[in-house]
Amino acid sequence: MKNIKEIIKEISEKSINQEICGFICFNDNFYVKQVSNRASNPDVYFHMSTIDYLDIKKNNNIVAIFHNHPTYTESQSVFDKTMAENICLPSIVYSNLTKNFSIFIPDSITSDVKDLERLKGVIFND
Ligand SMILES: [Zn+2]
Repeated sequence: MKNIKEIIKEISEKSINQEICGFICFNDNFYVKQVSNRASNPDVYFHMSTIDYLDIKKNNNIVAIFHNHPTYTESQSVFDKTMAENICLPSIVYSNLTKNFSIFIPDSITSDVKDLERLKGVIFND
């Protein structure tokens, strides 16, 4: 079975013209809930709708948000960090360019700390 790192890498590598985004959830295993990127210029930005977020939050244990950078490094922009701060969730970025991941954790998060530590283990310690 593929782990969450491989899953995010795989869906990101398929999207070279626009950023893909979604939620990383946990229930026995990590899984992805991808949502539409509603940014007006999705080649360089991502925007997730509040409706999509609330809909997924209803039935899933969300641990983090993720998106990819098709043509940039994994470093997170001011916009990425603001998004994470506003939604109170850690932000994971995968770069198609460098093949690396990054994480930004806002001061205030709604995710379970143990689930987050487990996620960091899978993505950064393998
Ligand atoms: Zn970004």
